[in-house]
Amino acid sequence: MALAVDVVVRYRKAVTYGVHALLAALETAGVEHGLRLGTTVEETAAHIAASRADRVLVLWSFYSPDADAMAAELAAVRALEDRDGVLHIAGGVHATAEPQQVIDAGWDLAGVGEGESTIVALVEALRGGDPLTGVPGLALRDADGVALRTRPAPQLPLDAFPSFPARRGRFGPIEITRGCRYTCRFCQTPFMFGGQFRHRSVASVREHVREMAGHGLRDVRFITPTSLSYGSPGPGPDLDAVEELLAGVKEELPPHGRVFFGSFPSEVRPEHVTPEAMRLLKRYVANDNLIIGAQSGSDRVLAASGRGHDTSPVRDAVRIAVEHGFRPNVDFIFGMPGEQEDDQEASLKLAADLADLGARIHTHTFMPLPGTPWRDAEPAFIPLATVRELDRLAQRGDAYGHWRKQAEHAARLAETAKAYPRRTRRRRTG
Ligand code: SF4
Repeated sequence: MALAVDVVVRYRKAVTYGVHALLAALETAGVEHGLRLGTTVEETAAHIAASRADRVLVLWSFYSPDADAMAAELAAVRALEDRDGVLHIAGGVHATAEPQQVIDAGWDLAGVGEGESTIVALVEALRGGDPLTGVPGLALRDADGVALRTRPAPQLPLDAFPSFPARRGRFGPIEITRGCRYTCRFCQTPFMFGGQFRHRSVASVREHVREMAGHGLRDVRFITPTSLSYGSPGPGPDLDAVEELLAGVKEELPPHGRVFFGSFPSEVRPEHVTPEAMRLLKRYVANDNLIIGAQSGSDRVLAASGRGHDTSPVRDAVRIAVEHGFRPNVDFIFGMPGEQEDDQEASLKLAADLADLGARIHTHTFMPLPGTPWRDAEPAFIPLATVRELDRLAQRGDAYGHWRKQAEHAARLAETAKAYPRRTRRRRTG
């Protein structure tokens, strides 16, 4: 007879999209399990304590800057735990990049890679009492505390699983594209999801929208690394595919339904912002802003970061977006490795010019994120003059962002990276 398994989720706003994808995978696979969402440490511990199941699987997911805070929460939950059969697993991009760190921080398991097939196989293995070494996409602690990897989890077509567990009444943005063919050296996306685009079919997107409309929802948003790449395998947009998507979504929505595309939680690349693309968006979308990734005003830094564009399309993108009635929010990263004073001056100059054209500048600080080619790179120094100029832009209402907090995260990530040199991180089992 199968064992009873309860899944308890440490449910945080910052990671709902990823968690919803996992719950959707369990729902689609029809794996029997109880489910409880813990929105606080206390609620999570209470769900564990209240479970009468044989095994309790506690899901944690977090980004690299939150890893220390989540480890403290894990310790607090464990301190309140007074039953056997509980397994804590950390998944997401940080656990994928740094399974040994996650195991050392106290989790029993790390989920490595895309989690949908792993969570299904893991719950099935727990129900069957089977060894977890047969579950793909895991890192398990061996007797010496070393994180041993099982075989890799497959990267499936996006249509294999929905973006959210609709039958549980949980909704959110629809993931239309996963993976990224660009190779920005600061970004975790290609490392986590692969270097090719995988697009969800229009039919699958329409099915999501039908479910949402059936539950009275009227706003549709999307998750994608680069919105105007939808349907395209390569660097250039396929605007016919984008139109087929947007028209299909509109058809599924009631007349007062709204489509948000190229805005939160997604963005567009600057070279994709053309008059033709903007005219197309204007016919379908409700957003009044576009998020555009510029990242630097220095061609040298853009080339070193592998962005795949220089500064020339950025001014044009802002001008074109404004001309078509969008307010551009333009992302900049300060402190990228190798950035010199003149590079920062070029970024500040471009940011000020774009603000004059009508853009708002979203400022970030470079963080050496695990899994990226720049994991071990030294963030460049950001001098007081640059700080003052960013403050001045913010006071004028032309800039916003959490760049100071990110500078603190960057320092902590750099320390942790030193404690975990790359070469000690891989051994395989199963
Ligand atoms: S920053 Fe954007 S375009 Fe660059 S690799 Fe990441 S997701 Fe792709």
